[in-house]
Amino acid sequence: KKKIAVMTSGGDSPGMNAVVRAVVRMSIHMGCDPYCVYEGYEGLVQGGNFIRKMEWNDVRGYLSEGGTLIGTARCMAFYERPGRLTAAKNLILNGIDALIICGGDGSLTGADRFRAEWPSLLEELVSTGQLEAKQVEPYKHLNIVGLVGSIDNDLSGTDATIGAYSALARVCEMVDYIEATASSHSRAFVIEVMGRHCGWLALMAGVATGADFIFIPEKPREDNWKEEMRQVIRKHRDWGKRKTIVIIAEGALDRHGTKITPEMVKDLLADKSGLALDTRITTLGHVQRGGTAVAYDRMLATLQGVEAVKAVLEATPETETCVIAITENKIVRKPLMAAVQETKKVAKAIEAQDFDKAMSLRDTEFSD
Ligand code: ATP
Repeated sequence: KKKIAVMTSGGDSPGMNAVVRAVVRMSIHMGCDPYCVYEGYEGLVQGGNFIRKMEWNDVRGYLSEGGTLIGTARCMAFYERPGRLTAAKNLILNGIDALIICGGDGSLTGADRFRAEWPSLLEELVSTGQLEAKQVEPYKHLNIVGLVGSIDNDLSGTDATIGAYSALARVCEMVDYIEATASSHSRAFVIEVMGRHCGWLALMAGVATGADFIFIPEKPREDNWKEEMRQVIRKHRDWGKRKTIVIIAEGALDRHGTKITPEMVKDLLADKSGLALDTRITTLGHVQRGGTAVAYDRMLATLQGVEAVKAVLEATPETETCVIAITENKIVRKPLMAAVQETKKVAKAIEAQDFDKAMSLRDTEFSD
């Protein structure tokens, strides 16, 4: 019987539980034994009770739970070869030959590295006497499949990451709450949302709530943005709008690479010689991650979890490691490393202030 393990890694995102549920139940449905690795790569390195066999009923109720019930962690040991060597040993000792990982680009990079190193890890386990040759013999190939769990919707090659639409829904709900009080007092609010290299949450929340002005990392405003923002907001106020909402992605920059801070924007809105608005700052923070998954994320996680198990069962030693994506409403398999590398290119372009490149990379991604 094939043993398939599932784990969640990196930042938690709504929908990760639905992934675990889908993988566990699809594995059983296909006649395999499912396992959960608790606490991400940390659990893989620790072994023991962190790796547990799962039954159908163990994941009951998982669809409507937020966060990840099997835990996640940032694991320093897995960045180093000795940590990955112990992880390989733990997998073999548990008889696991396939691993489905739900996480962000870091987790998926770690997964690919682990898979690429696998043969040499086995050699080392045998040559150092930790395992016998006949023990490792059935585990020549580690079968890895990635699923993208992230609230940022930042992975290239997929239209939606698991958790992004839940976070977007939460941001919109919070902006609605803020709008009620903003309108009552005729105030302005500067709202910071998550997104270090990806403006998707800020942009979509801005569209969905009718924000007055938005700042995202990939497309900085022109140098005259202060004047532009004043004019836009003045116009909206002249039209009778009693509230002002400005949304800033946490990684937003100006064209020269200077961070656009909520304080900076607040000072401009409050400036007595300009708009003179009574202005407050709200940093949404971790509420964006919390709460239950919206229906879309539950559906996406379930369909992708099912596809991940199918990919594991169909893989041959020659198959390239894949990530399960959604493109134009279809669940598809894509090469894992290409998706991660494209994602990293966007982050690098933003860091190098090559914003045209960042946007064109996002454009190709949107059009592919
Ligand atoms: P998020 O999008 O929330 O940041 P992430 O998966 O990108 O999620 P990371 O903290 O980057 O989060 O990665 C999670 C874990 O994956 C790390 O703590 C580490 O154990 C492992 N990992 C990340 N990058 C690598 C790497 N290059 N080599 C080995 N392991 C890695």
